[in-house]
Amino acid sequence: MDHTMDHNEDVARPRTRALATEAVHAGRDDLAALGLHAPPIDLSTTYPSADTRTEAARIDAFAADGVLDDGPPVYGRLGNPTVTRFETALARLEGTDDAVAFASGMAALTAVLLVRRSAGLGHVVAVRPLYGCSDHLLDAGVLGTEVTWVDPAGIADAIRPDTGLVLVESPANPTLAEVDVRAVAHACAAVPLLVDNTFATPVLQRPVESGARLVLHSATKYLGGHGDVLGGVVACDAEFARQLRKIRFATGGVLHPLAGYLLLRGLATLPVRVRAASATAAELARRLTGDPRVTRVHYPRIGGAMVAFEVAGDPHAVTAAVDLITPAVSLGSVDTLIQHPASISHRVVAADDRRAAGVGDRLLRLSVGLEDVEDLWADLDRALDGAGRGGGPVEGLRAVRAGGTQDS
Ligand SMILES: *Cc1c(COP(=O)(O)O)cnc(C)c1O
Repeated sequence: MDHTMDHNEDVARPRTRALATEAVHAGRDDLAALGLHAPPIDLSTTYPSADTRTEAARIDAFAADGVLDDGPPVYGRLGNPTVTRFETALARLEGTDDAVAFASGMAALTAVLLVRRSAGLGHVVAVRPLYGCSDHLLDAGVLGTEVTWVDPAGIADAIRPDTGLVLVESPANPTLAEVDVRAVAHACAAVPLLVDNTFATPVLQRPVESGARLVLHSATKYLGGHGDVLGGVVACDAEFARQLRKIRFATGGVLHPLAGYLLLRGLATLPVRVRAASATAAELARRLTGDPRVTRVHYPRIGGAMVAFEVAGDPHAVTAAVDLITPAVSLGSVDTLIQHPASISHRVVAADDRRAAGVGDRLLRLSVGLEDVEDLWADLDRALDGAGRGGGPVEGLRAVRAGGTQDS
């Protein structure tokens, strides 16, 4: 395949604008020429095409290369102009050639696995912990892939001739464990490294600068940022993007244009939101550290708006007692959420695997929003008081298991 054109475009791309500037301008470069200020939302599922011969040639070109030349998208599953704006903007923030958006983070990961599997490279090397459903998707092998779980130091030895992907999260969900992306990328050699950058966002970490080939986001979290849109995206080089678009066309996990609009809008405030919430999270982590009701605090070296901590008492009592903070799964919204990974986000992972990955039964995961730090601390402080000083077994967990109910 001829990469010359893309390469020239790369060289020509101005990289002088700072992240905060790109966040509010990328994907919007043509608006002034269109006589617009806000990005338009194109909800069309289909587009008029009177010249059928030309249309056939365009569809052939897309099937071969995953690229639709200039002109309307033909049909919504091939592409959408509003979604393309979000893809363009996210690629600029991550420093990649391109990005391909999907209906959710899981749809995005599915597409990556299918691209590699369809090339006969269905073996994946992965480091735990991962987000619970990512772990499950790999471990259950539902896409015909096979996974080898390793520590970062074991990656090079685990790579086989049919290894198509190495997958890590850093900071990882939910323990906030960090991997040295540069060292891991080195261990991968020619095998593409995918870094799930959902927790760090490009504001704190740009994995391609450390050698990753693919960067995945659950856009549902910080990119959207307001808890009202589900989406996923993979930032990558032009060649991988072509393959992802072909798989997206074939399997249909497209992002809705309205979601594309909301995600583009979310990006505009991403740097401001992430920095403000991170400052509050760092302060809450500081107060939790050394608190007698808390046995361990996890806060990443690179910072961020997530805090994980283990309580001496009953974690279920904490999630039941918060008032300002919402006890709910998900993260990255303007408001603060808390959840118990062993019960919810990582419930789908087998208990032994979960514990071995550091996801203990007393671990709580806090996604810090934009509220005032003193109001958040007052709520947490009161909720921790209700949890007791513990030491005994986590009763709530046993009751849940005995009752046979499972959240996932
Ligand atoms: C939520 C999440 C996902 C999955 O994304 P969805 O948008 O819920 O499908 C993947 N990775 C991480 C780290 C997540 O937190």
